Amino acid sequence: MKQMWIEANRCTGCGACADICPQKAITMEQDECGFIHPNIGIRCVDCHLCEKICLKREERENTHYMVPITYAAWSKDSDIRFCSTSGGVFSELAFAVLHRSGEVAGAQYRADNLVEHIIIKSEKELYKIRQSKYIQSHPNGIYLAVKKSLVEGKPVLFCGAPCQVAALYAYLGKEYDNLTTVDFICRGMNSPKAYSCWLKEIERMENSRVTRVWFKYKEGGWKSSPRRTRLDFEDGHSVIKSGTDNLFMNGYLTSNLYIRPSCGHCSFKGVPRQGDLTIADFWGIEESLDDDKGTSLVLINSDKGVELFNSANRSLIYQKREFDEIFEGNVCFTDSVSVPVKSYDFLCSLDTMPFSIALKKYSSIPLHKKILKKIKRIMGSRSIKN
Ligand SMILES: Cc1cc2nc3c(=O)[nH]c(=O)nc-3n(C[C@H](O)[C@H](O)[C@H](O)COP(=O)(O)OP(=O)(O)OC[C@H]3O[C@@H](n4cnc5c(N)ncnc54)[C@H](O)[C@@H]3O)c2cc1C
Repeated sequence: MKQMWIEANRCTGCGACADICPQKAITMEQDECGFIHPNIGIRCVDCHLCEKICLKREERENTHYMVPITYAAWSKDSDIRFCSTSGGVFSELAFAVLHRSGEVAGAQYRADNLVEHIIIKSEKELYKIRQSKYIQSHPNGIYLAVKKSLVEGKPVLFCGAPCQVAALYAYLGKEYDNLTTVDFICRGMNSPKAYSCWLKEIERMENSRVTRVWFKYKEGGWKSSPRRTRLDFEDGHSVIKSGTDNLFMNGYLTSNLYIRPSCGHCSFKGVPRQGDLTIADFWGIEESLDDDKGTSLVLINSDKGVELFNSANRSLIYQKREFDEIFEGNVCFTDSVSVPVKSYDFLCSLDTMPFSIALKKYSSIPLHKKILKKIKRIMGSRSIKN
């Protein structure tokens, strides 16, 4: 096997190397933890294009605004808003591009519930790429497909994690006037293996195959804490996981055990942003703009972003905000999560242990840390009383 140019824990699995390879010698394959990495086959002729594109992602001359124009916004269409993860701004941006006979690239669930990037060409397909799927999407040749559409002169909207947007620009190697990109504030990408193991355990319990996963299901409110996940099954019934029962989401938000190692030192945080626009949840927005149905944070990072937002804003309720407001509620804008060292053992343990047991085992806090925490709490409350 060929020596990789990048350490495994720095590879983001963006897949730009596979698309750029003129010999089609690279396939993206899952490692023992379930994360995809490039695998270089025998057709490799040592042209090193893969290595160059990988470095290029971080070296892009990024002229996007250092102080993005900031909005709180949501779709006027209540159904779209309900079916979206935040305020449904992504769908309204997508409609604006589709109305110009354009195409939109985003992440969809496959039949096996894993996630991949695709391009859609019509409004009736938009449901496929709506909603956050909290596992890493397989790039699936998306950069090649986007380039083909751009070269044909079609307007294209690409939405993905910041590392995927950076990968697209590196792959294209030049500016296309007909391309607009959207990234999101990203907490980190979860292992598809962990997610599949969680689903398998639920399928065993429910005695039916999961046909649809709906993270952050909004019945009961957008801010409902802990988050809800709705699962639909082949036999027609649905289950809503919430509270301590919502294992996958709780584990994601509290233990970081199945987040990709490269997300622990993400190169694409803060400003300038990768995308022409950035979308996220506007956590901490004032009450008058929060009816608990989902409020999007929209950052406009470039002139192209301004243009697209202006063509979508008739379908939005929106209000201009100060950029400084976003930091308190969304630390993931600037900070990478910390991926624990035991994450590797946890993911390997899933080969022999059910998800719930492994999560309990690896996310439990050791006794000495529990005692330390308790002491700190007592000392803290004493100093307040004094
Ligand atoms: C893994 C992940 C982590 C996130 N972390 C945060 C966070 O810490 N803070 C925060 O405020 N927001 C975060 N978001 C973004 C947030 O969940 C919403 O996606 C965003 O606010 C857009 O919501 P919307 O209602 O406008 O549109 P939605 O319809 O919810 O749009 C989602 C868009 O994201 C794309 N997408 C969905 N899943 C993936 C995926 N796995 N990989 C690549 N693209 C995908 C879809 O194709 C679509 O274009 C995260 C999203 C993901 C996928």
